Amino acid sequence: MTIVPQNTHSVDAAKLEKLAEVAVKVGLQLQKGQDLVITAPVVAMPLVRLITRHAYIAGAGLVTTFYADEEATLARYEHAPDESFDRASSWLYEGMAKAYANGSARLAIAGDNPLLLSGQDPSKVARANRANSAAYKPALEKISNFDINWNIVSYPNPSWAKVVFPDDPEEIAVAKLAKAIFAASRVDVPDPIGAWAEHNANLHKRSAWMNEQRFSTLHFQGPGTDLKVGLADGHEWHGGASTAKNGVTCNPNIPTEEVFTTPHALRVEGHVSSTKPLSHQGTLIDNIQVRFEGGRIVEAKASRGEEVLNKVLDTDEGARRLGEVALVPHSSPISASGILFYNTLFDENASCHIALGQCYSKCFIDGAKLSQEQIKAQGGNSSLIHIDWMIGSDKVDIDGIKPDGSKVPVMRRGEWA
Ligand code: ZN
Ligand code: ZN
Repeated sequence: MTIVPQNTHSVDAAKLEKLAEVAVKVGLQLQKGQDLVITAPVVAMPLVRLITRHAYIAGAGLVTTFYADEEATLARYEHAPDESFDRASSWLYEGMAKAYANGSARLAIAGDNPLLLSGQDPSKVARANRANSAAYKPALEKISNFDINWNIVSYPNPSWAKVVFPDDPEEIAVAKLAKAIFAASRVDVPDPIGAWAEHNANLHKRSAWMNEQRFSTLHFQGPGTDLKVGLADGHEWHGGASTAKNGVTCNPNIPTEEVFTTPHALRVEGHVSSTKPLSHQGTLIDNIQVRFEGGRIVEAKASRGEEVLNKVLDTDEGARRLGEVALVPHSSPISASGILFYNTLFDENASCHIALGQCYSKCFIDGAKLSQEQIKAQGGNSSLIHIDWMIGSDKVDIDGIKPDGSKVPVMRRGEWA
């Protein structure tokens, strides 16, 4: 049991400080006088303290942190009354939604144990997730509509480190995971802020090329995969830093290697196999195989976590349709590290991926001006969930298909063609 953070001695303090600075200056571009809401696991307290300090140095108004604790979550699964699994702390999410509506920025620290709930009753896990998603919706909408600047960074939580490096003692595992997080987050270089500017310029170049092509469909082919993903009408590719509706240009994900856009909710055909396990809310779903008809998943299998997968798909109608398609070269630094992180923030940036559920309105031309009805009419999906899973590898080819039927190679064997 961990009550206070004990692993700080195996995490490089100087690099942790740089990560905090990058989160505030690159991830959030926190504005003078802007409030900040932080959510974090309690073990990430050393990083929260550094981020809070850098936020105030940058001129933050009020910084408010909400901590979660894995031990407390497990206690709930062991002892809470059954009916409570259909409830969530909606007052908290309403408060967060209010804070975002009033202009607060949002920072989440990721790093939960990917297997925390793997021993718990899958139907309880699904009910709790569903209740949580429904309660979280007003706050999540402000984030997925990009109303505000927001950012996610990670902290090497010991329980996560032990899943990634099971054969190492905890202290070594934490040190290794910390090193991998710092490398992927580009804070292990002399000038992280400059490195991020260069990286953002590269991602902008890639997304500009995809936007020039005006593909109507992407065709993925590889082992167990033959999938045509129709793109939404008026879709726009994004990658790297982008500008929220409040006018602030930020990097929502650290790390990020993807260029991504919105697929058409009704125009996805064929079958696809996952290429990495998906860690979803404390359970692992592996070897996913699904078949799409008219944009909808009509068949879904998994070698592990199939029950959880099917419960996820039953969340709502939009949970069976795609809200994102993203391209990441197989040679991306995270992929090249060879580490399977069991954490979507990292694994999705090691591989091409698709997401079930909610689309991002910013992935449309003039997306900020479109109503929910217009987004839907152009093929944008809506759902309580947004779950990315990995479908890319060095064995997958991607062609772009234009409205006249002509084909352009986009990726060959997992690399930009
Ligand atoms: Zn993505
Ligand atoms: Zn996503």
